[in-house]
Amino acid sequence: MRNYNFSAGPAALPVPVLEQVAREMLELPGAGASIMEISHRSKKFEEVIAHAENGIRSLLGLPEEFHVLFLQGGASLQFAMAPMNMLAGSKKADYIITGAWGQKAIKDAQKYGAARVAATTKESNFSRLPESLDLDSGAEFVHFTSNETIQGVQWPQEPQTNGVPLICDASSDILSRPIDVAKYGLIYAGAQKNIGPSGVTVVILRDDLLQKCASDLPPMLDYRVQVDNKSLYNTPNTFGVYVIGLVCDYLQSQGGLAGMQARNEEKARLLYDAIDSTDFYTGHAASNCRSRMNVTWRLPSEELEKRFIEEAKAQGMVELKGHRSVGGLRASIYNAFPREGVVALVEFMKEFERKTG
Ligand code: PMP
Repeated sequence: MRNYNFSAGPAALPVPVLEQVAREMLELPGAGASIMEISHRSKKFEEVIAHAENGIRSLLGLPEEFHVLFLQGGASLQFAMAPMNMLAGSKKADYIITGAWGQKAIKDAQKYGAARVAATTKESNFSRLPESLDLDSGAEFVHFTSNETIQGVQWPQEPQTNGVPLICDASSDILSRPIDVAKYGLIYAGAQKNIGPSGVTVVILRDDLLQKCASDLPPMLDYRVQVDNKSLYNTPNTFGVYVIGLVCDYLQSQGGLAGMQARNEEKARLLYDAIDSTDFYTGHAASNCRSRMNVTWRLPSEELEKRFIEEAKAQGMVELKGHRSVGGLRASIYNAFPREGVVALVEFMKEFERKTG
């Protein structure tokens, strides 16, 4: 039996996608072998990667001026790769820090250029959004983390940057809702939360930013090389790219990103309503920036939190332990997490409070 898997990532994938992968495991239709056994230079793989790219393009409504890459090294490599490409020659960038991942991103950027903190909410233990931004109009970009996975803090809409392009670490909310792509210069995300397996990173890059990138980097770290070679400079994660294509088909069948947004909001509302309905549970994030993807909350004591996690696990609800820096509980409810699992957790929360509260 499959658990209700509240893991922050790698995370639940849509069951119809897993079923299709299982059906095609021995032979990808028309390939005579599985996806993992065919050349990344084959006609068949060209179709697979074009399918994944088109899936992302059509879901996000990406204009031609954006390139879509499938790279490796996770979002963590993009923390370094983006500034290496875009800040060479003492260029400047602004970073908005709303959690642990943004902190990591700026640390890498500061090795390659003048990356400056435009705002941070560290003093609130990253439980809210900044009230104001100290932006430099001469910056190449403004970096932000659309959803901080550990703290469960999500921007309801993009920060205002007066036309400076946004670079977004969208690892934990990509393709979970529509976004205004015109505001973005670069979007990157590890696939393993909302759109596929680990080992493949989606990078969406606007051409005018690409044209300004450094050109003397090692080829694997050079966006130009990756774009010129259509993500095939070396052997990509062929399986991961294939699954992303199938996940995009699935998201399309669910009403696209508007459909996913409605589902994700409803799932999150069920959980936040349960948290708000009692003093027994306390949410971490301020209500105007609560994440629809990672719901973080506390119980009255660490003993109760431990017991909650153990008893939930015994009922097939797993991976509810919060990150150690925040403590408490975290329920990650990405695109593929089923509504029934959220309903089951809410029932469990009520019963747990009745028993122990
Ligand atoms: N950014 C965010 C917002 C994340 O949630 C994560 C992974 N939890 C990362 C970056 C790091 O991603 P990866 O493991 O793909 O390098």
